[in-house]
Amino acid sequence: GRLVAGLAKTRKNIVSGFESVFSGFSRIDDDFYEELEEILIMGDIGVRATEEILDSLKEKVKENKIKDPADCKELLIDSIKEQMNVGDTAYRFEDEKSVVLIIGVNGVGKTTTVGKLAGKLKSQNKKVIMAAADTFRAAAGEQLHEWANRAGVDIVGGQDGADPAAVVFDAVQAAKARKADVLLCDTAGRLHNKKNLMEELKKINRILEKEYPEAYRETLVVLDATTGQNALVQAKQFSEAAEITGIVLTKMDGTAKGGIAVAIHSELGIPVKYIGVGETIDDLQKFDADQFVDALFD
Ligand code: GDP
Repeated sequence: GRLVAGLAKTRKNIVSGFESVFSGFSRIDDDFYEELEEILIMGDIGVRATEEILDSLKEKVKENKIKDPADCKELLIDSIKEQMNVGDTAYRFEDEKSVVLIIGVNGVGKTTTVGKLAGKLKSQNKKVIMAAADTFRAAAGEQLHEWANRAGVDIVGGQDGADPAAVVFDAVQAAKARKADVLLCDTAGRLHNKKNLMEELKKINRILEKEYPEAYRETLVVLDATTGQNALVQAKQFSEAAEITGIVLTKMDGTAKGGIAVAIHSELGIPVKYIGVGETIDDLQKFDADQFVDALFD
């Protein structure tokens, strides 16, 4: 249903490519594997993941004594799923008192994601508080206030230039006083100054450890799927600065290269937990790797 619709461009690109290979080859040879490799690479699945997927496929073909290229389809699906079977995919913050740190560079869709996530949690009857701790980008706080209104949740902070850690401190006090279920923190992501970023995240984490130890902590990195391999580079840099528990991949509706989701799992070992498939509050979907791979071949 909606997953397939949100992935329309990626599916058009990848599905049709696979179809022509599975029906266009009469035997499994080097050309066949080369053609598959090209589709995987073109879909932004990444060089390393592509290699591992093809190695696994070749092994399965041998093991099962497969002769017909058409019979490789299911094996390829399994091989891609194996690459994506990483990390802890649970959504613990939906079930217990939590603080969710949301990190990402400007323009990736971070503010929008915080708003969508707030809407989602609110619709589950959760008490949500937002912390506008991305005080670095001008107007980020104002924009987040609009999202808080739209989602119908409380928000703390939002003054440009304020100390992000101080905003988080205030938000924690508000979360405790108002018995919030989830505290959603919009934090900055200044990758051009990694040292500052690390210091800032450490400071925020220290405050959370000290002031809010009872809350489960989730750290999500927001990445723009349309930036392809760049998104992967960003994710790597963030994972050096903080302990990332999940990825949110935005703008999947706007890319034909949604295969980047496979590369992220394979190369970082961190699961994609949500994908953004549009600009409205309902356009955030939980990501399920098996469903995703099935949709690419359906
Ligand atoms: P931030 O700078 O990271 O906080 O980015 P914003 O949340 O302001 O988003 C930047 C732009 O991307 C805005 O125009 C959003 O509407 C748009 N955007 C965010 N997520 C999505 C998505 O999943 N799909 C589409 N098509 N646009 C998105």
